[in-house]
Amino acid sequence: MSEQTVKQGHPKGLWVLFGTEMWERFNFYGMRALLTLFLVNSLMMKEEEASLIYGGFLGLCYLTPMLGGFISDRFLGNRNCIMLGGSLMAIGQLLLFASATVFPNNLELAKTLMYAALGVIIFGNGFFKPNISSMVGSLYPKQEKSKLDTAFTIFYMGINIGAFLGQFICPIVGDVKDAGGMRDIHAFKWGFLAAALAMTIGTAVFFFLKNKYVVTPEGKPLGGLPSGHDASDFEEGEAQKANFSTTSLIVAVIAFVGLGFLFHYAVGQNVIYSMIYASGLTLAGLILSDKSLTKIERDRILVIYIVSFFVIFFWAAFEQAGSSLTFIADNQTDRNFFGWQMPPSMVQIFNGLFVVMLAVPFSILWDKLRAKGNEPISPMKQAFGLLLIAVSYFIIAYNVKDLGNSGLLAIKWLILLYLIQTCGELCLSPIGLSLVGKLSPKRFASLLYGVFFLSNASGYALAGTLGSILPATGDKFKKAQELGIDLQAVLDKTVTPTAEQLKLLADNQISAEYR
Ligand code: GLN
Repeated sequence: MSEQTVKQGHPKGLWVLFGTEMWERFNFYGMRALLTLFLVNSLMMKEEEASLIYGGFLGLCYLTPMLGGFISDRFLGNRNCIMLGGSLMAIGQLLLFASATVFPNNLELAKTLMYAALGVIIFGNGFFKPNISSMVGSLYPKQEKSKLDTAFTIFYMGINIGAFLGQFICPIVGDVKDAGGMRDIHAFKWGFLAAALAMTIGTAVFFFLKNKYVVTPEGKPLGGLPSGHDASDFEEGEAQKANFSTTSLIVAVIAFVGLGFLFHYAVGQNVIYSMIYASGLTLAGLILSDKSLTKIERDRILVIYIVSFFVIFFWAAFEQAGSSLTFIADNQTDRNFFGWQMPPSMVQIFNGLFVVMLAVPFSILWDKLRAKGNEPISPMKQAFGLLLIAVSYFIIAYNVKDLGNSGLLAIKWLILLYLIQTCGELCLSPIGLSLVGKLSPKRFASLLYGVFFLSNASGYALAGTLGSILPATGDKFKKAQELGIDLQAVLDKTVTPTAEQLKLLADNQISAEYR
């Protein structure tokens, strides 16, 4: 399939959405590469705490799309939500820039700015992500819906080209070492600024090109205010939207609160994680409570739930990329890559790179297998995805088992891990999305996508918990403790370190500003 034929076969609007999403993912993944290292090195958090913040942040990024989808459907429309989400994310990155600028002088303010930044990005992502994906679908008239699989493969490439660029540029400017090999803890801000710029470019691309290209085949604008939809948008199922009884809604609220308390107090999860898990379960139950469901519909929904459940474990393992795997890359890896010391935050780039290389071969493979009548069924592909991610960790576990405290893992093992995980992702991620689309009764489609995204969110929260149990080899507090210094007390200014202790801290790369 040459590029030319793809271009001819797809509306130009796809390329505008491709470009917008590419810059947005640059901003998101570029920041994700730096986030935990910034929290640990500049904001002086423990690795465990950084992993938990990371998981909660990612989880909330996949909870807010429910809100973004709802506001878009009812009030603002896709276009406004994309503009709003893009602007919010750019502002969020600027707040991170501010946090990374003020931290040496005012750690408390820096932390407040960081939390505010993550909050703004979470809402920005919630407005942006569901709306840009659904616009891809609406570019195609009904008779051309068969092109959607290819359209989404192209779009997934855009996502990963963006991720690749972000994970290259942001670490290059933000994760740097000085001549003495000590991390420059002031540099993170440049990474966040690069992310802010990327998001601004993405938003501008959309702003300037949307009217010309993001249109129906007849040239009418797509994704305007909800009241501006034309009749054909409403033909399918809009008249029979899900309509829950007041009793079900009240029961759902009670269930949400009850489950939240259960996760928090009985299972010991933090408030955000409890909220994420409780929302997924509540929404899943609420949909099943609808009396209009037929037996077949109910069975299909149960299949979606089973798939959603397993997907949780995939993302929990996959999203170690920005936490435990980054810490391992930072503290326990020989990152010599063809003679160049790769910044630790950049090692995760191999995921995006391999997706770009393998997405098309994978879709050709499925097409070929389908033509021969051998294509595995969707749950089989997903099981394969899960198996691959498990294999990738067995390989790492095998290679780290004899390293001890001072041995280094060769970077090739992390690259192999990302290669295997990417094959798993390509078996599981796009297939899951289309499976939900195929099995959902029309009137519940967006809510069931909500459940599916909430299962991603739960996976991310679980990723935070898993990441937090990694023994903290690079943890400054632990390192300082081994040197006989109570770093927390030094930071709290309840203890004044001696000159000798200061030198010890410096020799062990424990940052200067707090000494
Ligand atoms: N990497 C993809 C993206 O950023 C998929 C993530 C997901 O589905 N959880 O959009």
